[in-house]
Amino acid sequence: MALGAEFDRDAGGEIKLTREGGHHRDRIAHAGGDATGAEISRALIAALQRVVDDPGIEVVEHALVVDLLTAADGSACGATLHVIGEGQVDGVGAAHARAVVLATGGLGQIYTSTTNPPVATGDGMAAALRVGARVTDLEFVQFHPTVLFLGRARRGSSR
Ligand SMILES: Cc1cc2nc3c(=O)[nH]c(=O)nc-3n(C[C@H](O)[C@H](O)[C@H](O)COP(=O)(O)OP(=O)(O)OC[C@H]3O[C@@H](n4cnc5c(N)ncnc54)[C@H](O)[C@@H]3O)c2cc1C
Repeated sequence: MALGAEFDRDAGGEIKLTREGGHHRDRIAHAGGDATGAEISRALIAALQRVVDDPGIEVVEHALVVDLLTAADGSACGATLHVIGEGQVDGVGAAHARAVVLATGGLGQIYTSTTNPPVATGDGMAAALRVGARVTDLEFVQFHPTVLFLGRARRGSSR
């Protein structure tokens, strides 16, 4: 919200809360009805566009993080990247940094069937593990309750 995401509000201007699968009380904020993710993505992309001309910030799009780089003391100091297309400078490279924040999402795709999107590959967690990071709460894997089970032969993403 601080970056400009607009959530649905009631007549009094308060954020309107609703329910989703399994909820016993209203606790879910929606945006544009059931288009919450689209609104959050819109606000994040707009925030990115506001800083894209900042000389202190380099935005590298279409870049797949391959591995983390580590300094002599073992701390993370960057990542290797594979930049893959759409008018970008193609190739493999590295981004060096004083600190690394991984925001690569979940790991639903390690399962045969999942409600998660194709990008939920667990890449970031795997890269972190490869350089010796301690990870916690890996037993908590997100599923979305609005799934239709289409049988054991079903493969890939289901939602
Ligand atoms: C079907 C479904 C419906 C949902 N509905 C709601 C809802 O209504 N409300 C709600 O609050 N939440 C909802 N969620 C949950 C919500 O979408 C997630 O909790 C949220 O998107 C997680 O955000 P994230 O930034 O951690 O990861 P993500 O949104 O998954 O973002 C991770 C990003 O990292 C990128 N990435 C991954 N690996 C690499 C790599 N190696 N190199 C470079 N980039 C990489 C991916 O491409 C992706 O863009 C839903 C989830 C699902 C599956």
